[in-house]
Amino acid sequence: MTSSMKEYSNQVSPTWCPGCGHFSILRALQVTASNLSIPFENFAVITGIGCSGRLSGYLNCYGFHGIHGRSLPIAQGIKMANKNLVVIAAGGDGDGFAIGANHTLHAIRRNINMTYIVLNNQVYGLTKGHTSPLSDEGFQTKSTPRGSIHAPLKPGITAMSAGASFLAQGFSAFPDQLVELITKAIAHDGFSLVNVFSPCVTFNKNNTYQWYRENLVNLDDHDHYDPSQYQGAMDQLIETDGLCTGIIYQQNRPSYQERLQSEDALPLVDLDLTISKDEFEKLM
Ligand code: SF4
Repeated sequence: MTSSMKEYSNQVSPTWCPGCGHFSILRALQVTASNLSIPFENFAVITGIGCSGRLSGYLNCYGFHGIHGRSLPIAQGIKMANKNLVVIAAGGDGDGFAIGANHTLHAIRRNINMTYIVLNNQVYGLTKGHTSPLSDEGFQTKSTPRGSIHAPLKPGITAMSAGASFLAQGFSAFPDQLVELITKAIAHDGFSLVNVFSPCVTFNKNNTYQWYRENLVNLDDHDHYDPSQYQGAMDQLIETDGLCTGIIYQQNRPSYQERLQSEDALPLVDLDLTISKDEFEKLM
């Protein structure tokens, strides 16, 4: 039985500011779930803290609003406990690239079969607009009145360096592309990262809808772009300073689950880890 996108929304009204980019990501998730007819009971969305963290509270499926920067450990645990679930983790750029940055790197490296959506507005919105690790250098906030003196992390290049098997980037104002990217991310066999430029209309007056429209390069307009090429993906990220949308990179490498299964097929090696008194004394 197919379900309409409206059935994936619950009775809770979003408290996001009017115009916030996160509305579009919420809608894209609902449309994707409806298109794929994901059973409500097989769909789990796990979020961290921040305006983005509210996402799981607005969906009619299993959800877990966890602690700051920890959506990925929870989501990976859920997927490992029940491989039949479609598991999505979601969080802001602060959640994923500051307090949770270590989890992001290791989740990418581990390649568990799940999707991570970053709601990237280059600012901490919930705490009233201070710089995040992805804020542009020179970005002025109440905590950095002369402008940020830190160079921002580059999420795409960071993900590629950690061994991403699927990297896509979307924009809240490109809703159709966003649905396509999330659909392909869910279908990917391994860890898929979708970094979505999602403007904070209240606290980031630099990286606005207009700014992104003027600066983003849409790879869907480039007929010859080949996302299977690692070097090409890195070149694209460097040339555009990370400001591109579409599937940046996709590689087929065995997921964590596949590697575990193949490891089960290997004979256990009986290692003798004892050490004699003489050997011990030589080491001291
Ligand atoms: Fe969205 Fe920014 Fe408002 Fe938070 S503060 S709901 S990120 S517009």
